[in-house]
Amino acid sequence: MKASVRNLTPYVPEQPLADLQAELGLKRVVRLSANENPYGTSPAVERAVKSWDFTNSNRYPDADARALRTAVAAQIGVAPAQLVFSVGLDEMIVMLSRTFLAPGDRVLVSGPTFSEYGLHAQIEGAQLVTVPTLADDHVDFAGMAAALTPQVKLVWLCNPNNPTGTSESLADITAFIQQVPAETMVLIDEAYIDFAPNAAALTAMQLPAKYPNVVVMRTFSKAYGLANFRIGYGVFAPELAPTMQAVRLPYNVNSLTQVAALAAIKDQDFVQKTVAQNASERARWEAYFTARHWQFDQSAANFIFFAHPRAVALAAMLKQNGYLVRTGLRPGWLRLTIGTAADNARLRELMTEECEDPAV
Ligand SMILES: *Cc1c(COP(=O)(O)O)cnc(C)c1O
Repeated sequence: MKASVRNLTPYVPEQPLADLQAELGLKRVVRLSANENPYGTSPAVERAVKSWDFTNSNRYPDADARALRTAVAAQIGVAPAQLVFSVGLDEMIVMLSRTFLAPGDRVLVSGPTFSEYGLHAQIEGAQLVTVPTLADDHVDFAGMAAALTPQVKLVWLCNPNNPTGTSESLADITAFIQQVPAETMVLIDEAYIDFAPNAAALTAMQLPAKYPNVVVMRTFSKAYGLANFRIGYGVFAPELAPTMQAVRLPYNVNSLTQVAALAAIKDQDFVQKTVAQNASERARWEAYFTARHWQFDQSAANFIFFAHPRAVALAAMLKQNGYLVRTGLRPGWLRLTIGTAADNARLRELMTEECEDPAV
């Protein structure tokens, strides 16, 4: 076994909801800890998946995902050959770590951020260097630039960032990239960009064509409601894409998933509704936290990161009432996925009661 793997702390996945319902003795448990789409999945995806020709089951899928590739490239305005598909954005994190890291290398992040960057750095024997965020939880770009050394091979930028929800402007990201040596990769995770109020101005999608050391990643798991199908992609410079295709397992994305993602991308109406509902519910949460003087980060995503003097006890109480929120990302802070209007209203009721309870 690789020494780097021996002491690994695994990513803790979500517990199946049916198990939790039995454990808590509840008919309904709402998971607001994994940033899934609370509005479900487009009905067009259901129709497409159900009409898939089952007689194709014994055949390997299209290794190039041609139909999906054409649709995604047109939607985001890049060349089809720049796209590399993966089994969720997660697998792209694995592929990039595997491709660019050797033991002793360093990986630079702004922290707190998504834990998978560090996990896969560790598996490759690389060392994670974390530059803490500024007081408002924005990226400390000056601190990041100062931490660049020849050993740093990868820099991860999650925009909007998980778990803070904060977003950085394209101008700031571009200015940072201009300080990064050409041998160092800058990997921009845009898992939540659809939810940003200014997504079109924020995206770094056009940068890989200009800067060959930049990669931009997206997923269908969040705004597109396809978390179970496991599909994401990276946008690479044209000269780098063939190398990544060589690293990728040829049949990583199965046909059902390709069909689902294609139907999802065609139903922009579903995505726009999800984004609009999320934005109005996000505003309600901001108003609630502001009124109560609870500290929270300005979110451009489908979750809110907030501080609470009894964060762990609050999360436990919400769980007993059938609502799961994410703990353990920063002491005294919780990350809450923005749910449906009804669930959010119920959550605020529970939180208000907890505040007014003289016993706590
Ligand atoms: C959810 C998430 C992912 C992983 O998405 P999958 O496509 O489901 O693997 C990647 N990056 C961030 C920041 C996420 O929050």
